[in-house]
Amino acid sequence: MIKAVFFDIDDTLYDTSGFAKLARKAALNAMIDAGLPLSTDEAYDLLREIIKEKGSNYDKHLNVLTKRVFGEEKPLLIAIGMITYHNVKFALLRLFPETMSTLIHLKAQGYHLGVISNGITIKQYEKLVRLGLHHFFHSVITSQEAGVEKPDIAIFELAMKTMGCKAENSVMIGNSFNDDVLGAIDAGMSAVFLTIELKDSERAIIEKKGLKLDIISDIGQIKDIM
Ligand SMILES: [Mg+2]
Repeated sequence: MIKAVFFDIDDTLYDTSGFAKLARKAALNAMIDAGLPLSTDEAYDLLREIIKEKGSNYDKHLNVLTKRVFGEEKPLLIAIGMITYHNVKFALLRLFPETMSTLIHLKAQGYHLGVISNGITIKQYEKLVRLGLHHFFHSVITSQEAGVEKPDIAIFELAMKTMGCKAENSVMIGNSFNDDVLGAIDAGMSAVFLTIELKDSERAIIEKKGLKLDIISDIGQIKDIM
């Protein structure tokens, strides 16, 4: 019998949001130095608007940004922005302090580890490789591969099928209440919710549905419950 623990990647294994913001601002500042006629705040607001419109997995946000500002794409500015974004992001890419020791702990307990992530397969693998985590995981399933995103139960079912485990022996750990926790529970798995603070709306759903889940504020706390 395989006991499996599945992880979300972004903001679960490492701090995506904090780094992404710094990297985006650095990219925009480099573009402004190179002639983008906006202030940092104006450029950041415009970029956020475009990310909201196109989704965070779209890979041409800066193309759209230059087109909106100039009426046409500006390849040099786009290249400067992209290079700066990637350099800053990867310079800052770091695990949460307890991520590595937690994965080692789970391995030592005999769990098989997997990833279930909304995103583009190569981009998500790139993060795992850069973070030095890819050897830990038996299976990595992305929404691109599954054809549906979390919280659709099909992606959880595909991950369990690939791992060769059953829902009753599987746990999902993630920072999104809707995508990770509710999705996993709908698929029959257990769930661990990683969050600094439980929102009232989330507490209400937990109580209304009588959900059983563990709530932790730091990934290292998994070592206390598993
Ligand atoms: Mg996440």
